[in-house]
Amino acid sequence: MSRLRSRPALTAIGLLALAGVSVPAPAGATTLTCSSSTPVSQRPVIHAGDGGTCVALAERLLKQAFFYDGPTTGYWNGDAVDGMSRFQQSYRLLRRDGSVPTASWQVLEKVNAPFDQFKCGNASSNKVLLVFDDTPTSTTSYRALIDAARDGGYGIGVAPNGSVVRAGLADVAAARARGLLVVDHAYDHYDLTTLSSDKIRWEITQPDIGSNYLRPPYGSTNSTVLSIMAQQGKRNCLWDIDPRDWARSSLPLEVPDFRISPREAADYIIRNARGGSSVVVHMQHMGTNASLLRYIDLGLRDRGLSLCKKWGRATNANMPNAYCI
Ligand SMILES: [Zn+2]
Repeated sequence: MSRLRSRPALTAIGLLALAGVSVPAPAGATTLTCSSSTPVSQRPVIHAGDGGTCVALAERLLKQAFFYDGPTTGYWNGDAVDGMSRFQQSYRLLRRDGSVPTASWQVLEKVNAPFDQFKCGNASSNKVLLVFDDTPTSTTSYRALIDAARDGGYGIGVAPNGSVVRAGLADVAAARARGLLVVDHAYDHYDLTTLSSDKIRWEITQPDIGSNYLRPPYGSTNSTVLSIMAQQGKRNCLWDIDPRDWARSSLPLEVPDFRISPREAADYIIRNARGGSSVVVHMQHMGTNASLLRYIDLGLRDRGLSLCKKWGRATNANMPNAYCI
């Protein structure tokens, strides 16, 4: 059913339903009953025009994932159908028409599972999320990295500091247009636990990145930082794998154990990452060699893993609990 034909009639039904008026279901529509405790495999398929508690549940789940911002009407109407279609495109589901088959129910639940700070939005069991922090060495190397992700279909994250974005070194819109995850890394690179509450709030609310995913510099937080982040709706985006790609520049090169090259960091990831891992790397270190994305993906495939997939649509500032499924 096309959006233009379906929207006016269903909106009218939605208004009547909100007013408490009992209305007959549209022709071909069904009243579907289920709840959040109904196993996903037993939930009915929702089609445009259907109504009932199952539809209300799908509306709520879609809203929590930021793909629908209307009221819970209990009718699968134009805006919910459109939102579901964008959801299905984003997560590259086979069915993308805004109906809700079992596979879409499964992903809706997965995307709404509680956020795990050490996974940074990687809700998959067999994929690895790389998030590149800090500062590209040039606009060219940044572009090479996000283009390599787009061309390979890899869903990586970039976490520049706001000051880096303001200086024109990292283009947030370009990363989002490529379906990549953009993570706020505060405006400067201070340890937030050393700052006053006012300064912490300032550091994480500058408009340059505006993501609801935030990686505090050094991964450093305390209860004050976490509470201000929660007030601002920011998810704490950490990691469970650290190949220390930074060690080369911050420790003496004559210390052999710390002479980490981008390739060695990539090899570390291939050997150590697990399904669902979030890996911290840096745009100014491993991120200078964009060809390593493909190298890592191929290496992971030998272990039955792969890099995350980029979204099938542009990402945005209000990201659900799961970026990678
Ligand atoms: Zn950093």
